[in-house]
Amino acid sequence: MYRKLGLVAAGAAMALALAACAGGGAGGGAGGGGGAGGNAQQQQPGDLLVGVAMPTQTSERWIADGNAVKQQLEQAGYQVNLQYGNDDIPTQSQQIDQMITQGADALIIAAIDGTALSSQLETAKSQNIPVISYDRLIRNSANVDFYVTFDNFQVGVAQAEALLTGLGIKNADGSQGSAKGPFNIELFAGSLDDNNAFYFWNGAMSVLQPLLDNGTLVVKSGQKAIEQAAILRWQQETAQKRMEDLLTSAYSDGSKVNGVLSPYDGLSRGIITALQNAGYGPTTGGGANPMPIVTGQDAEIASVKLISDGVQSSTIFKDTRKLAEQGVIAAKAFLSGSQPQANDTTTYDNGVKVVPSYLLPVVTVYKDNIQKELVDTGYWTAQEVASGQAG
Ligand code: BGC
Repeated sequence: MYRKLGLVAAGAAMALALAACAGGGAGGGAGGGGGAGGNAQQQQPGDLLVGVAMPTQTSERWIADGNAVKQQLEQAGYQVNLQYGNDDIPTQSQQIDQMITQGADALIIAAIDGTALSSQLETAKSQNIPVISYDRLIRNSANVDFYVTFDNFQVGVAQAEALLTGLGIKNADGSQGSAKGPFNIELFAGSLDDNNAFYFWNGAMSVLQPLLDNGTLVVKSGQKAIEQAAILRWQQETAQKRMEDLLTSAYSDGSKVNGVLSPYDGLSRGIITALQNAGYGPTTGGGANPMPIVTGQDAEIASVKLISDGVQSSTIFKDTRKLAEQGVIAAKAFLSGSQPQANDTTTYDNGVKVVPSYLLPVVTVYKDNIQKELVDTGYWTAQEVASGQAG
């Protein structure tokens, strides 16, 4: 934007805004992507290109995010280049390089590895292209202008509370439940190159640690460190394999798993498959070998069906339409020479600076509020929930 709108930026207010966001390095900038017309004062949204880099299409939430961002930007008249990185760092780096070469005026990036984009961000900075970190914080770089996300610590808190509610230690209203334990649980974490994985874990442990300390909850495998619980790139198959290994190593004495903290629906499905293959389930309650309480995140349709069927216990719904909206609001602000409004300016230190952020709230979904939270809000249709398939 700063290149294409460089002439507009002659105004003092604009120059100040640019200096604030680009660390003082703002200036018309040269080269490439000059856009149509040559007269920057007549730049319309249609002359401006936004590069949108999403991590993967293997998880449906990122497809929803990508589509929603693209659609909302296009509705506002911008050109959009949306790319998916196939969970491969070189692919994503190359895609962002290409967006810059193409003359992108702003970048919205959900990184695969939050530390792997330094060279792209350097280039973006040198060309005064604002960078919005989308959902996952880009770390160790000064060249991140804004962060749109959900309250990631709260996601972890909500997952742990859903686990306790499922076990009956707590009631859904937060009050003390009747179950006393001890319960055997196992812990899963996300990908360690994703900053969010630590927020989810820390949020969850803030709730679970006291109960681990007093013996209400027992991690029978002994694997209580995030490094042991982490699943690289959030892969379902890796989670399934780890759950199988845990069952073999810690539960072949006939003891049972009662609950599994899972930070993402894809992992939850891998975990559930491992449990089913070992004879758990298929439904909660009753039976000698009930399915443990398994948490999740993202309200992916296959998991929503599992929740509806009583197999998975809960998920955390993060409305990607609302996140996309915030990403678009931020991009629009930068592209019109102003600053997006943050609602959190203290939490997200990326190792180099605290990135001004806009945080959205999250909702815990159990079987009994699928209708209210997911169907009535138009996120999924009743047919999709029934079939477990999108579309
Ligand atoms: C997102 C989660 C998602 C996970 C795996 C995280 O960065 O915040 O919503 O489940 O990545 O894609």
